[in-house]
Amino acid sequence: MTYISLTKAAQDRIAQTLQPGQFAIDATMGNGHDTLFLAELVGAEGRVFGFDIQQQALANTRQRLADAGIENHATLIQGGHEHMELLLPSRVVGQISAIMFNLGYLPGGDKHTVTRSDTTSAAIDVASRLLAPEGIMTILVYRGHPGGQDEADAISRALDSMSQKGFEIELYTSPGPWFYLAKKSIQT
Ligand code: SAH
Repeated sequence: MTYISLTKAAQDRIAQTLQPGQFAIDATMGNGHDTLFLAELVGAEGRVFGFDIQQQALANTRQRLADAGIENHATLIQGGHEHMELLLPSRVVGQISAIMFNLGYLPGGDKHTVTRSDTTSAAIDVASRLLAPEGIMTILVYRGHPGGQDEADAISRALDSMSQKGFEIELYTSPGPWFYLAKKSIQT
């Protein structure tokens, strides 16, 4: 797979599987591009749950959804993605069709508030339990910021252990971000 942008690659893979009426998670809202993308795919009958620890990210995402007239497709939650399971309605646990992570810092925001290896690997572990059978998780990993290489190493270990639990893992590298795709098997 040759792509100009691995961000686009992640969205393309989600678009191939996520259907109207399904549940999805944006684990790192940031400026809300992926939340909007997911909200368009799930439609009014589905729901996107967006997470971010920064107020600024919630405000930016809320505005983006409002501009598109689809804020009713999404629930925005200010909280760490490592706590996702506690912050979600219990009926959606194990029923999420797609989960997106786009790590690093908020573009245009505070560059010191970055995703971190301990919370990111905890969140990936939680996300693997939230997924529905055949659900997919996309993870864009950046190694340039302080702690980025540690985070990338922790993610690689987390995905190794998922592959031993029956997830199918794909990895696409670039001089910029790396893109992991994890697919849950039917019987996991
Ligand atoms: N690198 C991407 C954007 C990443 S935004 C790009 O270039 O487009 C990453 C977001 O993750 C930030 O808004 C940050 O606030 C958020 N974040 C950091 N730690 C988090 C956590 N524990 N849980 C949820 N979001 C977190």
